[in-house]
Amino acid sequence: MKPIHVVGGGLAGSEAAWQAAQMGVPVVLHEMRGSAGHSGTDAHKTDGLAELVCSNSFRSDDATSNAVGVLHAEMRKLGSLIMGQGDANQVPAGGALAVDRDGFSDGVSQALADHPLISIERGEISGLPPEDWDSVIIATGPLTAPSLADAILQLTDEDSLAFFDAIAPIVHTESINMEKAWFQSRYDKVGPGGTGKDYINCAMDEVLYNRFIDALIEADAHDFKDWEKDTPYFNGCLPIEVMATRGRETLRFGPMKPVGLTNPHDPDTKPYAVVQLRQDNALGTLFNLVGFQTKIKYGSQSDILRMIPGLEEARFARLGGMHRNTYLNSPVLLDAQMRLKAQPRLRFAGQITGCEGYVESASIGLYTGRLAAAERLGITLPDLPQTTALGALVAHITGGHVVDEADAQSNKPRSFQPMNINFGLFPPHEGPLVDEEGKRIKGKAKGLARKQALAKRALDHSDTWVRSLDAVLPQAAE
Ligand code: FAD
Repeated sequence: MKPIHVVGGGLAGSEAAWQAAQMGVPVVLHEMRGSAGHSGTDAHKTDGLAELVCSNSFRSDDATSNAVGVLHAEMRKLGSLIMGQGDANQVPAGGALAVDRDGFSDGVSQALADHPLISIERGEISGLPPEDWDSVIIATGPLTAPSLADAILQLTDEDSLAFFDAIAPIVHTESINMEKAWFQSRYDKVGPGGTGKDYINCAMDEVLYNRFIDALIEADAHDFKDWEKDTPYFNGCLPIEVMATRGRETLRFGPMKPVGLTNPHDPDTKPYAVVQLRQDNALGTLFNLVGFQTKIKYGSQSDILRMIPGLEEARFARLGGMHRNTYLNSPVLLDAQMRLKAQPRLRFAGQITGCEGYVESASIGLYTGRLAAAERLGITLPDLPQTTALGALVAHITGGHVVDEADAQSNKPRSFQPMNINFGLFPPHEGPLVDEEGKRIKGKAKGLARKQALAKRALDHSDTWVRSLDAVLPQAAE
């Protein structure tokens, strides 16, 4: 059987290769990092497959009322390699699933290397993949190598494929002054493998908070190049200095919110703002500043971060930075099978399709890998219900979002933006929300009840879909 070629051994490509091979189809996985003389990307630091380039968190693991938790659960049911290795390499993080990044990447790399139907080739695919590759999955991510990005741009007739994200700093734990900082999870929440004391917290009073905001607003940030000036930010990942300019209180209602935390060094004073740090590796020797992505220049960045009580002597394993994000205008360019309409031998997966985040990218890799393998095997997969988290995300990518009249006339959705999974992408709950006794739920409780109902429906429909998949698929290859 001819192989499927997967280009890019990141979160999506690794999962796509695994899923296709598990369906009995041979795969060649191409990764440019680790090839002789290759300098990799601006963000990756290793040659490992599925490297996590910034935070080590897969976010909430709550499948009862959180959309990404539901996506985790659906992926586990589908035999996800990324979730399997995430679970195997978990570090404590309250209700979140955070992983030891090296153990995780090593586990994924090993599983792929050991699979009898997968061969891994190190090397950059420059320009479009060779024409005799009849089934290709392009999963080259937000930092797609320029020659391939340019070739795709020409095929798609778009003006641009890029926008900006920023990344958060990482601190050596031993350099944090625990006479000022303290361990506590918000509301003492105990998550899987956690203790209720998973985060390091640093409190600020009002005077210091205001000085900190002034410093952020005045900070010297990296300049945009001319061609970058119109490139917008992804709203879920705004740099702290940009948040500070949007209002002095923005950070206090965002990553620096002081709720659910008591400073044991000064229990009678309620903190005005709190910076949280989350464990970054299994050893606990590194912690990252939660939500503190920034593009402030390195010199002034460390000076400003050392204003945070407890971080005065902090040593940074990595400072924050900024990066390009390459993604397609997928609702226009891709069909429902994740194929490029202009050249259907090319499928796309991962962040380049316009999802955002490790888990979302892997989930699209999972789906696309299965689609490509099914095509190779001559079978049709049952329709993926849009009521599942995976289905909602796929619908967002392939055209499930609203297109207004102007967009429709230009055949170009005006505002297709990369998206984390969220309940806003799910079809609405139908009928009244009722409790276990059948009583109608009213008032504030409706918000949580709605999420719970959408989560339950998603998991039920995903069970049904997985059963119908099993009925049409060959047995998984070991
Ligand atoms: P990647 O994981 O980036 O994998 C793409 C792979 O393709 C890479 O290994 C690359 O080397 C390879 N490649 C590229 N071009 C070629 C080519 N021509 N030939 C061969 N190989 C090629 N997400 C989060 O959930 N949390 C975060 O905190 C977070 N922070 C981020 C910070 C930065 C700096 C960046 C760039 C992204 C961040 N993201 C974050 C997004 C996250 O990286 C992506 O969602 C996820 O990694 C995307 O998975 P992917 O497989 O699509 O791409």
